[in-house]
Amino acid sequence: MALALEIRGLHASVEGKEILKGVDLTVKTGEIHALMGPNGTGKSTLANVLMGHPSYQVSAGEILFKGKNLVELAPDERSRLGLFMAFQYPVSISGLSVANFLRTAINSRRKAADPEDKGIGVPEFRRVLKEKMDMLKMPHEFAGRYLNEGFSGGEKKRAEILQLATLEPEIAILDETDSGLDIDALRVVSEGVNALAGPKLGILIITHYQRILNYIKPHFVHVMLDGRIVESGGPDLAEHLEERGYGWVREMQEEKAAEVL
Ligand code: ADP
Ligand code: MG
Repeated sequence: MALALEIRGLHASVEGKEILKGVDLTVKTGEIHALMGPNGTGKSTLANVLMGHPSYQVSAGEILFKGKNLVELAPDERSRLGLFMAFQYPVSISGLSVANFLRTAINSRRKAADPEDKGIGVPEFRRVLKEKMDMLKMPHEFAGRYLNEGFSGGEKKRAEILQLATLEPEIAILDETDSGLDIDALRVVSEGVNALAGPKLGILIITHYQRILNYIKPHFVHVMLDGRIVESGGPDLAEHLEERGYGWVREMQEEKAAEVL
């Protein structure tokens, strides 16, 4: 049975300024959703609020997943529950290798599911990691490097997708995973996401540009303007945006508002 992440009437602010002004969105496992919109409309804010970033305050609404309201949970609890976010700007952690980071993350999840769990064995972990790195066309020496330290833009995004691949969440949020990628890196990252997509995973791709949607085909497309989702549709909505730009959505909104008056 499909699981659903349900966002209902979500209002959130940062530094006392309201950014999200009533967001409604449901993402189910097996579905790929694209959230598009001009810069500064609150897309990353939504992603951060979903993961529980401490700088953002939720003033109204709910985020429901597996019978829990995520608003009340800490980021690590949300992660263990099966939510994953690939950051627009991943942080570097010197001294922590990619392999150690991933192994710790896997073990922390296993322990949360079963307190008796002894953790993933080293040979099994190596096997899993190699398999996932091959899928993402990452050289194996990557595993020994410190997390994101000195990584190029494309390598950082690949490292994020590697985390997604090894953690096997049920809902993944990819914030501007396409930004800073050249066309080859974009293709590899997209192929990785496509290989992971399937009935057990729900994906929310956040992007300003239509470009990544040439490689990852969404089932649903949503447009955010000024902290709200103002249009939702199928993949053709992304194509309209590519042709006509976001100004077209603004005009449509204004026409709708005029009709009400
Ligand atoms: P998008 O991802 O759609 O480009 P963001 O969610 O990043 O938009 O930003 C929406 C608005 O919230 C912007 O006006 C931005 O300046 C503001 N904002 C986001 N995060 C912060 C923060 N941590 N501190 C201050 N302002 C923020
Ligand atoms: Mg953003």
